[in-house]
Formats: sequence, structure tokens, C-alpha cells
Amino acid sequence: TRHEDYQRGSGLARPGKVKEVTSLTNPIVKDLRALAMKKFRDQQGVFLAEGLKLIIDALDLGWTIRTLVYSKAGKGNSLVEQVAARTIAKGGDVLEVSEKIIAAITRRDNPQMVVGVFEQKVHSLSAIKPQGNEVYVALDRVRDPGNLGTIIRTADAVGAKGIILIGDTTDPFSLETVRATMGSVFAMPLVRATEAEFLSWRKSFSGLVVGTHLKGAVDYRTIPYANKPVILMMGNEQQGLPDPLASACDKLARIPQEGRADSLNLAIATGVMLFEIRRDALKLDSGT
Ligand code: SAM
Repeated sequence: TRHEDYQRGSGLARPGKVKEVTSLTNPIVKDLRALAMKKFRDQQGVFLAEGLKLIIDALDLGWTIRTLVYSKAGKGNSLVEQVAARTIAKGGDVLEVSEKIIAAITRRDNPQMVVGVFEQKVHSLSAIKPQGNEVYVALDRVRDPGNLGTIIRTADAVGAKGIILIGDTTDPFSLETVRATMGSVFAMPLVRATEAEFLSWRKSFSGLVVGTHLKGAVDYRTIPYANKPVILMMGNEQQGLPDPLASACDKLARIPQEGRADSLNLAIATGVMLFEIRRDALKLDSGT
């Protein structure tokens, strides 16, 4: 299994063992540093998440942790110890390392005290059956990790039910994207689909598909979004929505603009749309 490969590769023969690692050239550290690359993340089916609170939230939401890494500063911290115990109870490994090693793994100057290696989770489109007034965001070939992370965070904030990644997109599990989600990557189901898969799934979806387009004929504020499931479809940063996806939309909405800019940043446009779509659903006292 991928799990066994991972352990073999990292030299961690026995799960559930706390290990102190001090050298940057240690093979376990090398394996963890390799997770900055998509190829290695995908091979192991894992990704890195930084920060104690975020890791606790992820565990509470049922995500599987394979390795917990904490720096010496975390030693004796009761929350870190609790997370370490939970990791071991689930058969994961715990590593105590220097701050320098955490900095190297996360490629940051001022690293967090704790980093977790979690199993990736992606859902299949066939499992998605939007109902009620649920909202999903479909992103066509999103390129920029910061945009994707920001969109995942914003979708979470408005109570959307998931993100559908269409075509070849930036990796939702990259350090940069995960960082930009501020933890929402653990709360927002991610779905991956090719354009053809999405178009075929769309035929059986009877709710509203709203695309956004710079040539959209409809002011986004005039569309009735309430009381039906909505798929909000956003175009690629450079090219916008391709014709097959644009034609699959029930409406093509535009956000009116003034000034010099031709278009809005993808994540900003998604935010503007989401808050309009969820206008009636969101109340000041319904947040947590
Ligand atoms: N050059 C691209 C084009 O011609 O479509 C610009 C794409 S824009 C940076 C990225 C995406 O954000 C668009 O595909 C669309 O989904 C959304 N977007 C940006 N500004 C928008 C606006 N004023 N109205 C509707 N959608 C907008």
C-alpha cells in the first residue's frame, strides 16, 4: 500500500514511535522535504499542513495523519503532547526535530512549531448530488495556488458544499494553497473532474449553473439564486471559460466594472459572486 511505501521510504519501520531527528540529511527529513513537490505528494498520497490549531481541527474532522513533526519549542506543550498522543493512537509517527528542520520542510524562515503529514482526500463527481439551496464552486483550470486557496477559504466562509476542480489545475495540496486556505482545505470537500466528465455530470443536474464571463449578458445581481442548488462556474485566470463550459451554463453573469482594469482577480470575482448567491442564507448570528 502507499502507506507501507511511505514508511519504507522514510525508514520508519514501526508506526507509533516517537523519534528524535537532528540532521537535515536524515532520510526521513529528506522524504518530508520532498513533499514540497507534487510528484512526491501524489506518490505518497499525502500533503503537509502547518500549525497546531489547524492540525487539531483536521483530526477533529476525521482526517488521517501519517506523521506529526514538532520542533523542540513544542516539547512539554500540553496541546502538542495531546496531538502527538492522538497521532500515535492512530498508528502515525511522531518526530521531534529542530526548528531548522521544520523550516527546511516547510520552506519558511519563521516556521510553525508543528507540521502534520495528512492523507489526501478527493471526492468523485458521481458522489455529488446537490440539493436544497446548496452551492458548489466549479473552477476551470485554476492556475494560481493563492487564488485556489483563497477560493477554498471563501467558499467555506459562505457555507458552500464543495469545490469542483475541472481540468488541469494547480494542486490543492501544495504548501502554498493549503496555507492560503487557512485550514478550510479540511472543511471543504474537493472534487476533481475532466471537462468531459463535468459536462456529462452537468446533464443530470437540474439546479442552476451560473457561469461568470466578461461577455456575460446578465448582471449577477439580477439572477434568482434562492431555493435551488447552484453551481457557480469560474473561468481560468488567463483565458476565461472555454466555449463548451460556457454553453453548459444556464446563465452567464457579469460583475459590472468601472475604471481601468479589464477584469477582476479570479478569487475576488468568486467572492463577490458567492456572497451574492448566499445573500439570503447568510446571517450575522449564524456564524461560529
Ligand atoms: N482574460 C480573461 C478573460 O478574457 O476571460 C480574464 C479572466 S478573469 C482574470 C478570471 C475569471 O474571473 C473569469 O473567467 C471570470 O470567471 C471571473 N471574472 C473576473 N472578472 C469578472 C467580471 N467582471 N464579471 C464576471 N466574471 C468575472
